[in-house]
Amino acid sequence: MHSRYVKHGSFWTCPNDNNHSVTFKTVLRHRGVLKSAIRRVMKDGLGTNLWRDPWIDRRSLLDIRGAPTHQEDRRGLTCSRIIRNGEWRPDSYRYTEELVGSIMPTVIDPTLPADRWIWEPTDTSSGTGEFQFRSCYNLIRRTFLLSSDYEFVWCKGLARKMQLCVYKLLLGRLLTRDRLSSFGVPVPDPKCVLCGLEPESIKHIFFECTLAWQIWSKQSRVLGVCASGNCIGDIITVIRDSRGRGHDWFQTARVRLAASVWHVWRERNRRIFEGLVTPPVGILHNIEFDVNAMET
Ligand SMILES: [Zn+2]
Repeated sequence: MHSRYVKHGSFWTCPNDNNHSVTFKTVLRHRGVLKSAIRRVMKDGLGTNLWRDPWIDRRSLLDIRGAPTHQEDRRGLTCSRIIRNGEWRPDSYRYTEELVGSIMPTVIDPTLPADRWIWEPTDTSSGTGEFQFRSCYNLIRRTFLLSSDYEFVWCKGLARKMQLCVYKLLLGRLLTRDRLSSFGVPVPDPKCVLCGLEPESIKHIFFECTLAWQIWSKQSRVLGVCASGNCIGDIITVIRDSRGRGHDWFQTARVRLAASVWHVWRERNRRIFEGLVTPPVGILHNIEFDVNAMET
């Protein structure tokens, strides 16, 4: 990836380009997280880009001083420019002279084979400084994905197809007719196949349609909370706020939510693709069946 996308530039500053692979674009989007977890130690500064590498208390000179004019940003300029005899000399370069306080804590160790990164996420008090996939994964997961709605969805014992369905609903990624038509896919009938009255959208199918109302009111009765709202986040909030009812109740509520969402979506797909119709009472029965199967 380095030779294909970064080429002679810097990983830290190379722009996110549409021609990059999805993987590389994702890596680039997480640079901020990586920066928060690494620290540079110097042998002689020769392997560290003075302007672009985040070596000053996890920031780069570029982050601190802003974009340099072309001449100051000579690509090859390394930290060796401000190291003399194994010691920092930030006063020898006009862009670093005011940064003495931030630069001095960066360790220079002439016995190292070369400049190197130390992997040091803030929550790890000790470590070898070697990069660990597990700790990186946890760092990214904490920073981005596990805003609590996602955590809520990934519960043990829940069928994967249901988890995925709720997850897509949270992200707004289910392919409803309004979305398909916004992508330019021909949709002969934009109406909801469950009621035939309103245009099909995520909000309509899961929260406004008569079928959705029947399902959420049944779940509300069983769970003893008002499980309805304008979006999945509303229902998750209601369930999460009632956690005090105990672990078993909470687990059941999560399973009920996922099974309800999945069965609505399944019914919608069966009507569109197979021409099969299950009446609401049958759908409610199927939800109960799945909830019981997952609980035992
Ligand atoms: Zn409808």
